[in-house]
Amino acid sequence: MNKALVVLSGGQDSTTCLYWAINEFGHENVRSLSFDYGQRHKIELESAKKVSEIAAVAHEILPINTFSALGGSALTDNTEPVNDDAEQTKQSTQLPNTFVPGRNLVFLTFAAAYAYQRNIEHLVTGVAQTDYSGYPDCRENTLSSLEQTLRLGMDYNITIHTPLMNLNKSDTVIMAEKLGAMDAMAYTHTCYNGLQPPCGHCQACLLRAKGFAEANTADPLIERFQFFKD
Ligand SMILES: [Zn+2]
Repeated sequence: MNKALVVLSGGQDSTTCLYWAINEFGHENVRSLSFDYGQRHKIELESAKKVSEIAAVAHEILPINTFSALGGSALTDNTEPVNDDAEQTKQSTQLPNTFVPGRNLVFLTFAAAYAYQRNIEHLVTGVAQTDYSGYPDCRENTLSSLEQTLRLGMDYNITIHTPLMNLNKSDTVIMAEKLGAMDAMAYTHTCYNGLQPPCGHCQACLLRAKGFAEANTADPLIERFQFFKD
């Protein structure tokens, strides 16, 4: 039983992970799952759907409309502005205000329950502890602890794969290229301001651009919009 479920946000990293999983487990054994958590940019879900179509894997969106009720994050709360400057953090936590506390823990727990019901033993997530934001729920120790908790709590042999954990953004771009993910990459979404074409000045856009520049590769998302302009 070697089936895998990829948690797909519609972004660059989870899309790379989708292709990693296809390469690892075989096309027919992979499916993707996204969460509608009240994110202010529904474009993420559109991207996840489109990426799954291009990768030709089954895709489902699960609704979890609780995070926005908790308040306080720029990614769910429409009254909270997204900081362009990553240094401007919430004083209490020293994390950028794009941090949604507990998000990955909840996503992976729901993903594990979804996997359990379908006899899937492998979860794949695109978290990386090299990420500039230093989100604590993206770290290796958090993920290995959660894996153990899920195994105990569900009495099920689930494994959480984090193929990007120790890669920087340019390594991730090189990996995506090797795995043939670039067609899908043109439809991924990264911009914190929810813009297509991307705004180019938010932290997410800058980090993405830096990764592609360092990997000496053109970003197919940017190229797609240049193509339409011509
Ligand atoms: Zn942006």
